[in-house]
Amino acid sequence: MKMLVTGGAGFIGSNFVHYMMRKYPAYQFVNLDAITYAGNLENLIEAEKSPNYQFVKGNICDRELVDSLVADRVDIIVNFAAESHVDRSITEPDIFVKTNVMGTQVLLDAAKKYDIQKYVQVSTDEVYGTLGDTGFFTEDTPLAPNSPYSASKAGADLLVRAYHETYGLPVNITRCSNNYGPYHFPEKLIPLMIINALHDKELPVYGDGMYVRDWLYVEDHCSAIDLVIHQGKSGDVYNVGGHNEYPNIEIVKRVLQELGKSENLIRYVQDRPGHDRRYAIDATKLMTELGWKPTYTFDTGIVETIRWYVNNREWWERIIRGDYQHYYDKQYKQR
Ligand code: NAD
Repeated sequence: MKMLVTGGAGFIGSNFVHYMMRKYPAYQFVNLDAITYAGNLENLIEAEKSPNYQFVKGNICDRELVDSLVADRVDIIVNFAAESHVDRSITEPDIFVKTNVMGTQVLLDAAKKYDIQKYVQVSTDEVYGTLGDTGFFTEDTPLAPNSPYSASKAGADLLVRAYHETYGLPVNITRCSNNYGPYHFPEKLIPLMIINALHDKELPVYGDGMYVRDWLYVEDHCSAIDLVIHQGKSGDVYNVGGHNEYPNIEIVKRVLQELGKSENLIRYVQDRPGHDRRYAIDATKLMTELGWKPTYTFDTGIVETIRWYVNNREWWERIIRGDYQHYYDKQYKQR
C-alpha cells in the first residue's frame, strides 16, 4: 500500500505519520507539505530514517505536482494539509479558501483521475457551528460554520461529498474535536499555556474563559483515522471525540496545577469575534460501527502532554526563537 499524507509536517499529520509507520511497516508513505509557519520537519526526524518514508515539499494547490505524485501508484490519500488557526483566518481569510477549499479540489481531481482506493478528508467539528449548554454534534447536524476557517473546512467537506455522489469516488470525512499532545504548535491553547507557565509569563484567556471544547489526545485521533481508512463505509462521515468537555479556564488551571504554578498568572483578554461557545462531539457511530475507543482520558493525556513539553524544550524553544527556519533552510537546500 502506498499512502499520500498531505500536511504531514503539522501537528496531527506528523503524529499520524509516526503512528502509521509503527503500525504498518510494509506501507510506503509520501508526505506532501508546503512547510508553512505551522509545518516543521523536526517533527519527523524518526520517520526520515526509514526507506518507506519520503518527504516532498510542495503545495496541495499545485496540480502538476499532485498529479505526478498520485500517478506514481498511490492507493490512499489522507488530507491533513490546511490553514488551521482560527485567529489567523479572521485576519487573512484568502489563504484559507485557497488551501482548504481549492487545495482539496486538486487532491480530489487526482484521486479521481488515478482511481485510488480511498480518500480521507480530515475535518473538524467546527463545521457544525456552536452548541448551547446541552446536546452534541452528530454526523447529521447541519453545517453552520462561523469563522472563515470553519467555513473553508465546510466548503472542502461539501466538495468531498460531491465527488462521492457525482463520480463515485471512495471517500470518508472525519470530523474531530480539539486535539492536544506532542508537536502541537506553540500558538495553540494547551502548548501556549504550558510554555508561558514554564516561563512564569501571563496566561491569556479569552473572554470569561467559559468556552467549552471537547479535547482528544492526538494519538486517539490517529487510531480513528486508521480505522476509517481501512473500514470506513465509502461516502460516510465519522465524528471523532472523547467526551472530554472542559471550559478553557479549567484547562488553564489544570496546567498551572500540574506545573505547580500560581493562578495569579491568569489574565483575561478581549474575546475574539464569532467565538463559538461550546463544541461537543457524539462519536457513537465510530464506536459502534468501527469499534473505535480512545485510549487516553483527559487526565492521562494532559499529564503526558505536559511531560512531553517539559522534556522537549529544544523543539519549542527553536520555534519560538525562529531558529527553526534556519534549520529548515539548511535541510531543504540539501534535498
Ligand atoms: P497544522 O496547522 O499543525 O498543520 C497543517 C500542515 O499543513 C502544516 O504542516 C502546513 O505546512 C501544511 N500546509 C498548509 N498549507 C498547505 C498547502 N497549501 N499545501 C501543503 N501543505 C500545507 O494543523 P493540525 O492541527 O495538524 O490539523 C491538521 C488537520 O486536522 C487540518 O485539516 C485541521 O483542519 C484538522 N483538525 C485539526 C484539529 C486540531 O485540534 N488541531 C481538530 C480537528 C481537525
